[in-house]
Amino acid sequence: MITRVSSAAAIGARGEGLGRAGKGLCPLCVGSDISAEVTQAGTGQGDLPQAGAGRVLDGKAIAVTVRAEAAKRVAALRQAGIVPGLAVVLVGDDPASQVYVRNKTRACDEVGLVHFDHRLPATTTQSELEALVDRLNADPRVHGILVQLPLPAGLDSAALLARIDPRKDVDGLLPENIGRLWSGAPRFVPCTPLGVMRLLGEAGTPLSGAHAVVIGRSALVGKPVAALLIAQNATVTLCHSHTRDLPSLVRSADIVIAAVGKPGLVVGDWIKPGATVIDVGINRLPDGRLVGDVDFEGARQRAAAITPVPGGVGPLTIAMLLHNTLAAATGT
Ligand code: NAD
Repeated sequence: MITRVSSAAAIGARGEGLGRAGKGLCPLCVGSDISAEVTQAGTGQGDLPQAGAGRVLDGKAIAVTVRAEAAKRVAALRQAGIVPGLAVVLVGDDPASQVYVRNKTRACDEVGLVHFDHRLPATTTQSELEALVDRLNADPRVHGILVQLPLPAGLDSAALLARIDPRKDVDGLLPENIGRLWSGAPRFVPCTPLGVMRLLGEAGTPLSGAHAVVIGRSALVGKPVAALLIAQNATVTLCHSHTRDLPSLVRSADIVIAAVGKPGLVVGDWIKPGATVIDVGINRLPDGRLVGDVDFEGARQRAAAITPVPGGVGPLTIAMLLHNTLAAATGT
């Protein structure tokens, strides 16, 4: 086992693509050259935006703000004698996972979080991994634990994750934290859904009483997004692969969250004029381009606000990981 401790800062993590290993790409790891404009900050209150405005929500710019907030909080914590620390466990040499971890670690370094990197060979056994998690659970320097998924074949990721102390579950994926979210007393909320909510806030999209259609019901994205929207008094329709007549449901939505992993699934004329469209999906086309699940140009003609891919939800996801790690360090 190689254990590396960065004195500079923070974490890596797992999380993206959980439950769909190898099927998608994590936008945290890609840059965006899509021109975009940062929208005005919003509180979720006020009138529904007008159709045709088609504002593009610049996730990269918003993530810069979130990171700056995180850096300030880290500095204040350090002054108070608390050094937030995140343990990152990477097993094997999957290239995508290595990129994910590198980007997350870099983000941690940027804001001054300490990260403890555990890079293990693919031959690592389940019991060795479980022993590592036990040590990290007991280590007071470690406030958050991230196991980068997928694990190599033969390892039981569910059993390993279940061993993480729920107070260090900064991905918010353990049953205790899922239950807390749905019961209205959230502790850690998965990072991508937190990013989605931040984007809705920046868009100024009214949530109370709005009809939100969430497409995709994964534990990582769709379900927690639905829980967060319900908590904000939205009326949520949670769609999935067995849903009948998806187009008519989307046509009635004030808010559309697409988290499927199918390029072009949501076409422009499904979008209700004035709706807010958050595209979580990330797909690589045969020509190498990265796209989301929504026909961006078509939907933009009708939406009041829309996220691009790349450069929308992805950058927020990693920023929210920093947020969760700080929450773990302060017990808030
Ligand atoms: P998943 O495979 O776990 O879930 C996909 C969901 O889509 C399932 O609930 C399935 O029922 C639903 N679905 C499939 N076909 C459908 C159809 N035709 N109509 C309606 N629903 C359908 O995927 P996931 O992990 O939730 O990821 C979804 C997408 O989001 C992927 O493209 C992934 O790469 C991306 N993602 C992005 C980020 C980010 O930071 N931006 C993070 C995580 C995942």
